[in-house]
Amino acid sequence: MIPSFSAETRLADGAQYIAGRLRRGTSGREHAVVDPATGERVYGYELAGAADVDAAVAAAQTALPEWAGAAPGERSDALHRFAAVLGEAGRAEELAQAESLQCGKPIKLSREFDVPGSVDNTAFFAGAARHLEGRSAGEYSGDHTSYVRREPIGVVGSIAPWNYPLQMAAWKILPAIAAGNTIVLKPAELTPLTSLLFAEAATEAGIPDGVVNIVCGAGPEAGEHLVGHPSVAMTSFTGSTAVGCRVAEIATGTVKRLHLELGGKAPFVVFDDADLEAAVHGAVAGALINSGQDCTAATRAYVQRPLYDAFVAGVADLMGTVRLGNPFDPATDLGPLVSHAQRDRVAGFVERARGYARVVTGGETPGGDLAKGAYYRPTLVTGAAQDSEIVQSEVFGPVLAVLPFDGDDEGIALANDTPYGLAASAWSRDVYRAGRATREIRAGCVWVNDHIPIVSEMPHGGYRASGFGKDMSAYSFEEYTQVKHVMYDNTAVAAKDWHRTVFGDR
Ligand code: NAD
Repeated sequence: MIPSFSAETRLADGAQYIAGRLRRGTSGREHAVVDPATGERVYGYELAGAADVDAAVAAAQTALPEWAGAAPGERSDALHRFAAVLGEAGRAEELAQAESLQCGKPIKLSREFDVPGSVDNTAFFAGAARHLEGRSAGEYSGDHTSYVRREPIGVVGSIAPWNYPLQMAAWKILPAIAAGNTIVLKPAELTPLTSLLFAEAATEAGIPDGVVNIVCGAGPEAGEHLVGHPSVAMTSFTGSTAVGCRVAEIATGTVKRLHLELGGKAPFVVFDDADLEAAVHGAVAGALINSGQDCTAATRAYVQRPLYDAFVAGVADLMGTVRLGNPFDPATDLGPLVSHAQRDRVAGFVERARGYARVVTGGETPGGDLAKGAYYRPTLVTGAAQDSEIVQSEVFGPVLAVLPFDGDDEGIALANDTPYGLAASAWSRDVYRAGRATREIRAGCVWVNDHIPIVSEMPHGGYRASGFGKDMSAYSFEEYTQVKHVMYDNTAVAAKDWHRTVFGDR
């Protein structure tokens, strides 16, 4: 139950990955990666400053012409090798351990979800790299042939959050480089380890130096410098809506392509003909995955009145069986939150909710062996008003609020009643009811009779305050490519008809 992975040994050369090698940051500021299960420091590194970001962008610029000019098949081959390197047993286990160490994720989640998901994403983009699509060429004016070229944008600057650091690195890096861009990624300060290991594996797979660069620095310093950098052509950001707005402001000022994956507050709508047991299981799994630090997590369950009491009782019972513990124990269901600060933030939401709602179960930090870690018990809240903080704001912890509703119209209206629109689920055995919910709920993903699963082939991205643009799937190429119209004259005529509008009627 002790990880064999040691960040101090493995990443001894520093936490900046620039032009194919690790190096130290030059900001003069040290940052510690802390194991949230114990509160102990597991790695210290010097944060990236502006000069490190400049060096990473320069490396990405240098690598760009050759990588952008490579045939799709060559990029595809490199990505296939990358998937193979990542999937090697020793490498996959190292990634899983590093991810659990820095995030406090249960090792079974890292081994069965984060790592295989990232390997699969890599394999998907290896194939997709050969399938950039556009309209077929045609003679739309009669006198010309038109076609489109789908071209890379250039150097992409990406910023990622701490909740799924490995998958976020994969989601940002893979579509960008599959389309022929080069990239500089800034992971969250708390969780740099797996992004660095991911980039190193890319180099090992033969992806040229400078195609993938990682700068580990603070948001307002390295992050803003990257977003505002004149040589960066696109910003792709995943994180909170508040920081996303700041990033958008800077990116807009330098006319960059912008992709924003922001916060969520996913509704979970249970109609009265739903399979109650399935809905209860789905709600507990959907609310607690990754300790609720999931932008698509089920956070507000709306349950039609006839099922409401049984649903609340079922969720409370099932939450009581979830095993909190050491993330490296394969039997642990729920680890700590990513940091003590995040745990305290979550606890603050629940403490304030006690003033206007009922905490049915949870709402406390465990004692005993777990007291040193950033643990928080699975928490169920009822009786909160729709406009209350716990229902409207992103808590990002293992907390589910449950509210009743009467008619279907009301259930759907409540589901749509927050500023967010990332994901949602509808629970019903009636295909027409579920179908209506999928049409009328305003979110980038609506599940029916499940909540959370993702696949590399399908897009992930938000509506409204959850942002715009898509990660994963071939749809992500819409973000990471630009379309050029090429138009050939087919007539070889010097005096063309349309010239009359300029030279007069001769
Ligand atoms: P955050 O917004 O605090 O930080 C995200 C990243 O932005 C970090 O790398 C941080 O260093 C950087 N940053 C902070 N200030 C910055 C600034 N001024 N300029 C540039 N970069 C800056 O988010 P977080 O707390 O790391 O992650 C949790 C949030 O991420 C939640 O809101 C969650 O919903 C969201 N999220 C969204 C998705 C999605 O796909 N929509 C996926 C995962 C997480």
